[in-house]
Amino acid sequence: MQDDFPLTITAVMEHGRRVYGRSECVTWEGNGSRRASFVEIADNAARLANALTGLGVSSGDRVGTLCWNQQEHLEAYFAVPCMGAVLHTLNLRLPPGQLAHIVNHAEDKVVLVDATLLPLLAAVSSQLKTVEAFVVIGEGDTSVLGSEVPVHSYAELVAAASPTYEWPVLDEKSPAAMCYTSGTTGDPKGVVYSHRSTYLHAMATLATTVTGANEADRSLVVVPMFHVNAWGIPYASFLAGATMLMPGPHMTPAALCDLVAAERATLVAAVPTLWAGILQVGTERELDLSSVRMGTSGGAAIPRSLLEAFQRQYGLRIIQGWGMTETSPVGGMAHPPVDVALGSDEEFDWRTKSGRLIAGVQMRIVADDGTELPWDGEAVGEMEVRGPWITGAYHRDPAPEKFHDGWLRTGDIGTIDDRGYFQITDRSKDVIKSGGEWISSVELENLLAASPLVLEAAVIGIPDDKWTERPLACVVPRGDVTPDELAAFLKGKVASWQVPENWTFVEEVPKTSVGKFDKKVLRARFADGDLSVQRTKAPGEK
Ligand code: AMP
Repeated sequence: MQDDFPLTITAVMEHGRRVYGRSECVTWEGNGSRRASFVEIADNAARLANALTGLGVSSGDRVGTLCWNQQEHLEAYFAVPCMGAVLHTLNLRLPPGQLAHIVNHAEDKVVLVDATLLPLLAAVSSQLKTVEAFVVIGEGDTSVLGSEVPVHSYAELVAAASPTYEWPVLDEKSPAAMCYTSGTTGDPKGVVYSHRSTYLHAMATLATTVTGANEADRSLVVVPMFHVNAWGIPYASFLAGATMLMPGPHMTPAALCDLVAAERATLVAAVPTLWAGILQVGTERELDLSSVRMGTSGGAAIPRSLLEAFQRQYGLRIIQGWGMTETSPVGGMAHPPVDVALGSDEEFDWRTKSGRLIAGVQMRIVADDGTELPWDGEAVGEMEVRGPWITGAYHRDPAPEKFHDGWLRTGDIGTIDDRGYFQITDRSKDVIKSGGEWISSVELENLLAASPLVLEAAVIGIPDDKWTERPLACVVPRGDVTPDELAAFLKGKVASWQVPENWTFVEEVPKTSVGKFDKKVLRARFADGDLSVQRTKAPGEK
């Protein structure tokens, strides 16, 4: 074997620059766009690395980014890891207390901030213990940041810096980036991605079993770049030459539809709530989604009704994927098996699976006592995964309860079948056990979402004297709706004892900072007596 080269983000950047230098990063500005070729991105990354070196950033230092999906963020995606520092993407939807906590916990040395987010940073700037410089992208009132920490202009720093940088030869296992989990329980945990894990993950997502992205693609990067490296799309795009379309702060479904049509996006990756929002825009005006060859959805279960509606109304195939912050994130994609007729009902049965395991990730389903369960599509247990882009530890937080003999405990409960399709029925903390039997809140939510009477619905377990626990459906109704009508809608679709008899109508299902149902908030509201519950007939009641 010849001497190999390390699998680093520098290698990703160099490949994109040299082989696909004409591909672009397009940043949407509402009524027009800003374009930069991959060559320009790489040159600016070198300038930024020079500027950051000038600010005292050296190997292993953390550099925070509080940015939208935009050109400068992409430049930081390369500059920071390739100079040997660690990119820490900051979630701009976190409450200020949590934002300060993660900057301090990661010990960020410099923070790059988009000018539109200055008020958010200003709310915490006095609490940041390790930050030595702020770098502001765009124009804004920087006086809100106070005078203790020097403030620089991104444009000025980059303009003054040299476009060549002596990129160091890095150990591929060294840290490249980090992202804190935005889960609904406990403190956020820092997940660290290495150069190698990032490289291999990006390669894996280019397979046709994931997106098959290539030079002909124009990939709309909707998933925030502060969340799990935007699902790895920026790095994968550089490896494959796919042009990236960045929405900047224009993240409403309506604005994204405009961007898709104006820039002829071919790939769109988004969470289910965003897909639902796009469908809603389509009820208000005509949409041109004709350029999109494939949509992907992940982060939460997508209702079958949504997959069917996109197929029927727009001929758009949305493939569901599964992943976590800890898994870089892609672990599975629910492409249907080869022997299923496209467009058939059966195809949708497969496409509503949570995913089919992708090469590079191993999974097992484990019973409460830690023993492995069969791949029969029936045995239910916790999913555990391992692989080169699955985290094995958290930053300054050993969290032994998250690992089991070298496998990551996902906290997802479900089944896996003999073709590697897995189906999540619940998060372990969300499961409902009624009279000793599981009820899948995810299944009830998906069925309710398919009802014309429902805008959205989340189901939680509440205490019950007779059955220990019973489901409570929290529904955002479409117009005048009664619980009896909803119970009747579910009848025949699930076993009769699984139909909830507890219903509450809410204005909106609370969401986490990355757009998932926040059931913790619903449970707290129920415990505080804030939800007015109406009852239909319980199992066995006449
Ligand atoms: P996060 O780390 O915030 O990305 O959250 C990861 C969690 O999102 C997983 O453990 C799952 O519970 C959930 N999740 C991700 N993708 C899916 C999916 N396709 N179906 C159901 N749940 C999902």
